[in-house]
Amino acid sequence: MSTTGRVAIVTGAARGIGAATAVRLAREGRAVAVLDLDEGACAETVEQITAAGGTALAVGCDVSDAAAVEAAVARVAAELGPPVVLVNNAGVLRDNLLFKMSEDDWDTVMSVHLRGAFLMSRACQKHMVDAGFGRIVNLSSSSALGNRGQSNYSAAKAGLQGFTKTLAHELGKFGVTANAVAPGFIATDMTAQTAARVGMGFDDFQAAAASQIPVRRVGRPDDVAGAIAFFTGEDAGFVSGQVLYVAGGPLD
Ligand code: NAP
Repeated sequence: MSTTGRVAIVTGAARGIGAATAVRLAREGRAVAVLDLDEGACAETVEQITAAGGTALAVGCDVSDAAAVEAAVARVAAELGPPVVLVNNAGVLRDNLLFKMSEDDWDTVMSVHLRGAFLMSRACQKHMVDAGFGRIVNLSSSSALGNRGQSNYSAAKAGLQGFTKTLAHELGKFGVTANAVAPGFIATDMTAQTAARVGMGFDDFQAAAASQIPVRRVGRPDDVAGAIAFFTGEDAGFVSGQVLYVAGGPLD
């Protein structure tokens, strides 16, 4: 690992895909800022990393709050070093059919996914430009292609794909790549929440999803972490502006 590519920030890393990604990047030699809304909730991920001999820092931050983001990124730079790898993973669901969707449901999803990725990327890019090296990975979703009950989430996840491609255009000349990983069904608290919303047990919900997926299983957080790790790698410098679906099969 070169010293320039050492420090990574993973948002929403207290659990789920973010936690698996933080652990994976630490295993590859990066010092990882485990960022989530509640600093205390990051302890388990940090402990997992440090127990394996890695370096991690718990950071409490709401990614949709500009001042909090600036302070968090400055803290990471001071305590771990300049963050040159950023995984914009923090996310929320506020599913509802359009006629029942409140303005708050809409705004919350836009704030966390889109505004959050914008604020975090803006705060980190100066460190990446100074280093002449950077890797940004944004979490999109198969829902970007449209999904009933998710007009807010699907718009945000499609928006992240446009955001990613634009960052690739703007930042490429500074050695910075931007890519998106778009998972299908991954078993996490988020999909458990969806099962509860539609009134199904989580096991039945996963079995129903698996039956529709070509590889006949649902995804695990580690499946997504592996794809993210590829994009953050030092040797992925010629791959930029891409959207990789990690969904156990092709999508329409
Ligand atoms: P998850 O288990 O719900 O974890 C999301 C994490 O983000 C939580 O720890 C949450 O904290 C944190 N978070 C929420 N709002 C935040 C904010 N404003 N600032 C900082 N952190 C915040 O979700 P996941 O399933 O791992 O999903 C991770 C990402 O992958 C999301 O962007 C999601 O949209 C995307 N994705 C997931 C799937 C899937 O099937 N699971 C599929 C496609 C895409 P709290 O616990 O405090 O709320």
